[in-house]
Amino acid sequence: MLKKRDKRYKRSKMQSNTKIGITTTVPVEIILASGAIPVDINNIFITDVDPGNLVDKAEKAGFPQNTCSWIKGLYQTIISQNIEKVLSPVWGDCSNSFALSEILSECGIEVIEFQYPFDRNIKRLKESFKELYDRFDVSEKDVLKKHDDLQKVRKELKTIDDLTIKGNISGKDNHIYLVSSSDFEGNPDLFLKKIKNRPNIIKKESDDNHRIGIIGVPPIFTNFFDVLEELGFSVVYNEIPAEFSMIKSLDKGFYEKYLEYSYPYGMRFRLHTIKKEIKRRRLKGIIHYTQCFCYRQIEDILLRKNIDIPILTIEGDRPCEIDSRSRMRLENFWELL
Ligand code: SF4
Repeated sequence: MLKKRDKRYKRSKMQSNTKIGITTTVPVEIILASGAIPVDINNIFITDVDPGNLVDKAEKAGFPQNTCSWIKGLYQTIISQNIEKVLSPVWGDCSNSFALSEILSECGIEVIEFQYPFDRNIKRLKESFKELYDRFDVSEKDVLKKHDDLQKVRKELKTIDDLTIKGNISGKDNHIYLVSSSDFEGNPDLFLKKIKNRPNIIKKESDDNHRIGIIGVPPIFTNFFDVLEELGFSVVYNEIPAEFSMIKSLDKGFYEKYLEYSYPYGMRFRLHTIKKEIKRRRLKGIIHYTQCFCYRQIEDILLRKNIDIPILTIEGDRPCEIDSRSRMRLENFWELL
Protein backbone atom coordinates (compact mmCIF):
# COMPACT_ATOMS: atom_id res chain seq x y z
CA MET A 1 0.00 0.00 0.00
CA LEU A 2 1.33 3.43 -0.91
CA LYS A 3 1.74 5.70 2.09
CA LYS A 4 -0.42 8.79 1.51
CA ARG A 5 0.40 11.85 3.51
CA ASP A 6 -2.31 14.13 4.88
CA LYS A 7 -2.05 16.73 2.14
CA ARG A 8 -2.01 16.08 -1.58
CA TYR A 9 0.79 17.75 -3.46
CA LYS A 10 0.66 21.48 -2.92
CA ARG A 11 3.18 23.90 -4.34
CA SER A 12 4.59 25.71 -1.33
CA LYS A 13 7.04 28.58 -0.96
CA MET A 14 10.67 27.53 -0.74
CA GLN A 15 11.89 28.08 2.81
CA SER A 16 15.52 28.42 3.80
CA ASN A 17 16.82 25.11 5.23
CA THR A 18 14.10 23.07 3.50
CA LYS A 19 15.47 19.66 2.60
CA ILE A 20 15.31 19.00 -1.13
CA GLY A 21 15.65 15.33 -1.98
CA ILE A 22 17.57 14.61 -5.17
CA THR A 23 17.73 11.27 -6.95
CA THR A 24 20.59 12.03 -9.35
CA THR A 25 22.87 14.93 -10.18
CA VAL A 26 20.86 18.13 -10.57
CA PRO A 27 21.98 21.78 -10.77
CA VAL A 28 22.75 21.82 -7.06
CA GLU A 29 23.89 25.46 -7.28
CA ILE A 30 20.22 26.49 -7.59
CA ILE A 31 19.18 24.65 -4.42
CA LEU A 32 22.13 26.01 -2.45
CA ALA A 33 21.58 29.58 -3.72
CA SER A 34 18.02 29.43 -2.34
CA GLY A 35 19.24 28.47 1.14
CA ALA A 36 17.63 25.03 0.89
CA ILE A 37 19.60 21.86 1.66
CA PRO A 38 20.21 19.26 -1.07
CA VAL A 39 19.98 15.66 0.13
CA ASP A 40 21.09 12.90 -2.22
CA ILE A 41 18.65 10.10 -1.44
CA ASN A 42 20.87 7.48 -3.12
CA ASN A 43 23.60 8.03 -0.55
CA ILE A 44 21.20 7.82 2.40
CA PHE A 45 19.64 4.64 1.01
CA ILE A 46 22.87 2.76 0.34
CA THR A 47 24.51 3.75 3.66
CA ASP A 48 21.42 2.75 5.68
CA VAL A 49 22.11 0.02 8.26
CA ASP A 50 19.75 -2.26 6.36
CA PRO A 51 19.20 -1.07 2.76
CA GLY A 52 17.73 -4.47 1.84
CA ASN A 53 14.92 -3.87 4.31
CA LEU A 54 14.07 -0.59 2.55
CA VAL A 55 13.76 -2.48 -0.73
CA ASP A 56 11.52 -5.09 0.95
CA LYS A 57 9.28 -2.35 2.34
CA ALA A 58 8.95 -0.73 -1.10
CA GLU A 59 7.87 -4.10 -2.50
CA LYS A 60 5.27 -4.37 0.24
CA ALA A 61 4.03 -0.93 -0.88
CA GLY A 62 3.48 -2.38 -4.35
CA PHE A 63 6.73 -1.94 -6.28
CA PRO A 64 7.21 -4.99 -8.52
CA GLN A 65 10.07 -7.39 -7.80
CA ASN A 66 11.31 -6.90 -11.35
CA THR A 67 12.01 -3.19 -10.85
CA CYS A 68 15.43 -1.67 -10.24
CA SER A 69 16.32 -1.83 -6.53
CA TRP A 70 17.75 1.69 -6.56
CA ILE A 71 14.26 2.99 -7.44
CA LYS A 72 12.65 0.97 -4.65
CA GLY A 73 15.29 2.11 -2.18
CA LEU A 74 14.83 5.73 -3.23
CA TYR A 75 11.07 5.55 -2.75
CA GLN A 76 11.27 4.00 0.70
CA THR A 77 14.06 6.32 1.86
CA ILE A 78 12.09 9.42 0.82
CA ILE A 79 9.05 8.13 2.73
CA SER A 80 11.02 7.05 5.81
CA GLN A 81 13.00 10.30 5.99
CA ASN A 82 9.86 12.43 5.62
CA ILE A 83 11.33 14.31 2.67
CA GLU A 84 8.65 16.73 1.47
CA LYS A 85 10.18 18.09 -1.73
CA VAL A 86 12.12 16.32 -4.45
CA LEU A 87 13.91 17.82 -7.44
CA SER A 88 13.98 15.32 -10.26
CA PRO A 89 14.83 15.38 -13.98
CA VAL A 90 11.96 14.09 -16.11
CA TRP A 91 14.41 13.67 -18.95
CA GLY A 92 18.07 12.79 -18.50
CA ASP A 93 17.83 10.07 -15.84
CA CYS A 94 15.58 7.08 -16.56
CA SER A 95 11.96 6.15 -17.17
CA ASN A 96 11.82 4.37 -13.81
CA SER A 97 12.68 7.59 -12.03
CA PHE A 98 9.95 9.35 -14.03
CA ALA A 99 7.43 6.77 -12.77
CA LEU A 100 8.86 7.21 -9.26
CA SER A 101 8.15 10.96 -9.50
CA GLU A 102 4.52 10.22 -10.28
CA ILE A 103 4.24 7.84 -7.33
CA LEU A 104 5.83 10.42 -5.02
CA SER A 105 3.36 13.09 -6.17
CA GLU A 106 0.54 10.67 -5.44
CA CYS A 107 1.95 10.29 -1.92
CA GLY A 108 1.73 14.05 -1.35
CA ILE A 109 5.40 14.83 -1.95
CA GLU A 110 6.11 17.91 -4.03
CA VAL A 111 8.12 16.90 -7.08
CA ILE A 112 9.87 19.77 -8.85
CA GLU A 113 10.63 18.70 -12.39
CA PHE A 114 13.16 19.86 -14.95
CA GLN A 115 14.92 18.31 -17.90
CA TYR A 116 18.33 17.98 -19.45
CA PRO A 117 17.97 18.52 -23.23
CA PHE A 118 18.97 15.28 -24.95
CA ASP A 119 20.53 17.23 -27.86
CA ARG A 120 22.75 19.16 -25.40
CA ASN A 121 21.37 22.42 -26.69
CA ILE A 122 22.57 25.22 -24.42
CA LYS A 123 19.55 27.41 -25.12
CA ARG A 124 17.16 24.66 -24.00
CA LEU A 125 19.32 23.87 -20.97
CA LYS A 126 19.23 27.53 -19.92
CA GLU A 127 15.46 27.70 -20.36
CA SER A 128 15.03 24.59 -18.24
CA PHE A 129 17.30 25.91 -15.48
CA LYS A 130 15.69 29.35 -15.57
CA GLU A 131 12.31 27.82 -14.76
CA LEU A 132 13.96 26.46 -11.64
CA TYR A 133 15.21 29.95 -10.71
CA ASP A 134 11.57 31.04 -10.47
CA ARG A 135 10.60 27.96 -8.50
CA PHE A 136 13.47 28.39 -6.03
CA ASP A 137 13.08 32.17 -5.98
CA VAL A 138 16.70 32.87 -6.90
CA SER A 139 18.32 35.05 -9.56
CA GLU A 140 20.79 33.91 -12.18
CA LYS A 141 23.38 36.10 -10.45
CA ASP A 142 22.88 34.22 -7.14
CA VAL A 143 23.30 30.90 -8.92
CA LEU A 144 26.44 31.92 -10.81
CA LYS A 145 27.93 33.20 -7.55
CA LYS A 146 27.19 29.83 -5.93
CA HIS A 147 28.85 28.09 -8.88
CA ASP A 148 31.98 30.20 -8.32
CA ASP A 149 31.94 29.41 -4.58
CA LEU A 150 31.81 25.69 -5.34
CA GLN A 151 34.89 25.84 -7.55
CA LYS A 152 37.19 25.45 -4.53
CA VAL A 153 35.37 22.26 -3.50
CA ARG A 154 35.53 20.84 -7.02
CA LYS A 155 39.24 21.75 -7.24
CA GLU A 156 39.88 19.72 -4.09
CA LEU A 157 37.94 16.81 -5.58
CA LYS A 158 40.16 17.07 -8.66
CA THR A 159 43.21 16.82 -6.39
CA ILE A 160 41.71 13.69 -4.84
CA ASP A 161 41.11 12.19 -8.27
CA ASP A 162 44.67 13.00 -9.38
CA LEU A 163 46.00 11.31 -6.23
CA THR A 164 43.89 8.27 -7.07
CA ILE A 165 45.50 8.05 -10.49
CA LYS A 166 48.91 8.10 -8.76
CA GLY A 167 47.78 5.33 -6.39
CA ASN A 168 47.76 7.51 -3.25
CA ILE A 169 44.01 7.30 -2.66
CA SER A 170 42.09 4.05 -2.93
CA GLY A 171 39.38 3.48 -5.54
CA LYS A 172 36.87 3.06 -2.72
CA ASP A 173 37.67 6.41 -1.10
CA ASN A 174 37.72 8.06 -4.52
CA HIS A 175 34.22 6.69 -5.13
CA ILE A 176 32.93 7.94 -1.76
CA TYR A 177 34.39 11.45 -2.12
CA LEU A 178 33.30 11.97 -5.72
CA VAL A 179 29.84 10.46 -5.36
CA SER A 180 29.20 12.78 -2.39
CA SER A 181 29.60 15.79 -4.65
CA SER A 182 26.03 15.45 -5.93
CA ASP A 183 24.84 17.22 -2.75
CA PHE A 184 28.16 18.10 -1.03
CA GLU A 185 26.61 16.36 1.97
CA GLY A 186 24.23 19.31 2.27
CA ASN A 187 26.93 21.78 3.30
CA PRO A 188 29.77 22.52 0.84
CA ASP A 189 31.93 24.35 3.44
CA LEU A 190 31.86 21.47 5.92
CA PHE A 191 32.32 19.00 3.09
CA LEU A 192 35.41 20.87 1.90
CA LYS A 193 36.87 20.82 5.42
CA LYS A 194 36.18 17.11 5.67
CA ILE A 195 37.82 16.20 2.38
CA LYS A 196 40.82 18.43 3.10
CA ASN A 197 41.32 16.61 6.41
CA ARG A 198 41.09 13.21 4.76
CA PRO A 199 43.13 10.67 6.68
CA ASN A 200 43.55 8.07 4.03
CA ILE A 201 46.61 8.79 1.93
CA ILE A 202 48.11 5.45 1.02
CA LYS A 203 51.36 4.68 -0.67
CA LYS A 204 50.87 1.59 -2.74
CA GLU A 205 53.18 -0.32 -4.98
CA SER A 206 51.50 0.30 -8.30
CA ASP A 207 50.45 -2.81 -10.16
CA ASP A 208 50.28 -1.58 -13.73
CA ASN A 209 48.62 -4.72 -15.06
CA HIS A 210 45.56 -4.34 -12.87
CA ARG A 211 44.74 -0.65 -13.26
CA ILE A 212 41.03 -0.65 -13.94
CA GLY A 213 38.07 1.68 -14.31
CA ILE A 214 34.50 1.19 -13.11
CA ILE A 215 31.95 2.24 -15.70
CA GLY A 216 28.21 2.48 -15.14
CA VAL A 217 25.73 3.34 -12.41
CA PRO A 218 27.04 3.12 -8.83
CA PRO A 219 27.32 -0.55 -7.79
CA ILE A 220 24.67 -1.68 -5.30
CA PHE A 221 26.95 -4.33 -3.75
CA THR A 222 27.86 -3.33 -0.21
CA ASN A 223 31.43 -4.71 -0.38
CA PHE A 224 32.22 -4.11 -4.05
CA PHE A 225 35.39 -2.05 -3.61
CA ASP A 226 36.63 -4.16 -0.69
CA VAL A 227 36.50 -7.28 -2.85
CA LEU A 228 38.27 -5.55 -5.76
CA GLU A 229 41.02 -4.39 -3.44
CA GLU A 230 41.32 -7.80 -1.81
CA LEU A 231 41.72 -9.41 -5.25
CA GLY A 232 44.50 -6.96 -6.14
CA PHE A 233 42.80 -4.58 -8.58
CA SER A 234 43.80 -0.90 -8.56
CA VAL A 235 40.67 1.12 -9.26
CA VAL A 236 41.88 4.42 -10.70
CA TYR A 237 38.71 5.57 -12.45
CA ASN A 238 35.13 5.76 -11.22
CA GLU A 239 33.32 7.04 -14.28
CA ILE A 240 29.93 8.18 -12.98
CA PRO A 241 31.17 9.62 -9.65
CA ALA A 242 33.82 11.55 -11.65
CA GLU A 243 31.00 12.88 -13.83
CA PHE A 244 28.96 13.89 -10.75
CA SER A 245 31.91 15.90 -9.46
CA MET A 246 32.32 17.84 -12.75
CA ILE A 247 36.08 17.92 -12.27
CA LYS A 248 36.77 17.42 -15.96
CA SER A 249 35.11 20.77 -16.73
CA LEU A 250 36.60 22.87 -13.93
CA ASP A 251 37.57 25.60 -16.37
CA LYS A 252 34.03 25.81 -17.81
CA GLY A 253 31.16 28.03 -16.72
CA PHE A 254 28.00 26.94 -14.89
CA TYR A 255 25.80 26.03 -17.88
CA GLU A 256 28.69 24.48 -19.81
CA LYS A 257 29.46 22.17 -16.87
CA TYR A 258 25.96 20.68 -17.14
CA LEU A 259 26.45 20.13 -20.87
CA GLU A 260 29.83 18.45 -20.39
CA TYR A 261 28.39 16.25 -17.62
CA SER A 262 27.80 13.15 -19.74
CA TYR A 263 25.39 10.98 -17.71
CA PRO A 264 22.08 12.43 -19.03
CA TYR A 265 23.12 12.47 -22.68
CA GLY A 266 23.45 8.81 -23.66
CA MET A 267 26.24 6.28 -24.05
CA ARG A 268 27.61 7.61 -27.34
CA PHE A 269 28.45 10.91 -25.65
CA ARG A 270 29.79 9.16 -22.54
CA LEU A 271 32.16 7.14 -24.73
CA HIS A 272 34.16 10.27 -25.67
CA THR A 273 35.11 10.79 -22.04
CA ILE A 274 35.62 7.09 -21.31
CA LYS A 275 38.04 6.70 -24.23
CA LYS A 276 40.06 9.74 -23.15
CA GLU A 277 40.23 8.51 -19.56
CA ILE A 278 41.35 5.01 -20.59
CA LYS A 279 44.44 6.60 -22.16
CA ARG A 280 45.06 9.26 -19.53
CA ARG A 281 44.75 6.82 -16.62
CA ARG A 282 46.53 3.95 -18.41
CA LEU A 283 43.68 1.51 -17.78
CA LYS A 284 44.25 -2.16 -18.53
CA GLY A 285 40.64 -3.24 -18.10
CA ILE A 286 37.12 -2.09 -17.37
CA ILE A 287 34.43 -3.42 -15.09
CA HIS A 288 31.04 -2.40 -16.41
CA TYR A 289 28.61 -2.49 -13.53
CA THR A 290 25.00 -2.91 -14.62
CA GLN A 291 21.89 -2.87 -12.49
CA CYS A 292 19.29 -5.60 -12.84
CA PHE A 293 16.12 -4.29 -14.59
CA CYS A 294 17.89 -1.10 -15.73
CA TYR A 295 17.68 -0.05 -19.38
CA ARG A 296 21.33 0.97 -19.21
CA GLN A 297 22.28 -2.72 -19.35
CA ILE A 298 21.72 -2.49 -23.11
CA GLU A 299 24.49 0.11 -23.31
CA ASP A 300 26.95 -2.73 -22.69
CA ILE A 301 26.68 -3.48 -26.43
CA LEU A 302 27.93 0.01 -27.34
CA LEU A 303 30.68 -0.13 -24.76
CA ARG A 304 31.99 -3.45 -26.10
CA LYS A 305 31.80 -2.24 -29.71
CA ASN A 306 33.80 0.89 -29.02
CA ILE A 307 36.34 -0.01 -26.35
CA ASP A 308 39.34 -2.15 -27.15
CA ILE A 309 40.56 -3.16 -23.69
CA PRO A 310 39.13 -6.14 -21.75
CA ILE A 311 35.69 -5.54 -20.23
CA LEU A 312 33.96 -7.55 -17.53
CA THR A 313 30.25 -6.90 -17.05
CA ILE A 314 28.99 -7.50 -13.53
CA GLU A 315 25.31 -7.26 -12.66
CA GLY A 316 23.84 -6.52 -9.24
CA ASP A 317 20.25 -6.68 -8.06
CA ARG A 318 19.57 -6.06 -4.36
CA PRO A 319 21.88 -4.30 -1.89
CA CYS A 320 23.99 -7.13 -0.49
CA GLU A 321 27.51 -8.52 -0.58
CA ILE A 322 28.93 -9.76 -3.88
CA ASP A 323 27.67 -13.26 -4.69
CA SER A 324 30.15 -16.10 -5.16
CA ARG A 325 29.59 -16.37 -8.91
CA SER A 326 30.41 -12.69 -9.50
CA ARG A 327 33.42 -13.01 -7.22
CA MET A 328 34.69 -15.94 -9.24
CA ARG A 329 34.24 -13.96 -12.46
CA LEU A 330 36.25 -11.12 -10.91
CA GLU A 331 39.03 -13.55 -9.98
CA ASN A 332 39.11 -14.84 -13.56
CA PHE A 333 39.24 -11.28 -14.87
CA TRP A 334 42.21 -10.55 -12.61
CA GLU A 335 43.98 -13.60 -14.05
CA LEU A 336 43.16 -12.47 -17.58
CA LEU A 337 44.67 -9.03 -17.03
S1 SF4 B 1 20.01 1.93 -12.05
FE1 SF4 B 1 19.03 2.34 -14.00
S2 SF4 B 1 16.85 1.97 -13.67
FE2 SF4 B 1 17.84 2.14 -11.67
S3 SF4 B 1 17.59 4.29 -11.13
FE3 SF4 B 1 19.59 4.11 -12.10
S4 SF4 B 1 19.23 4.55 -14.28
FE4 SF4 B 1 17.22 4.14 -13.33
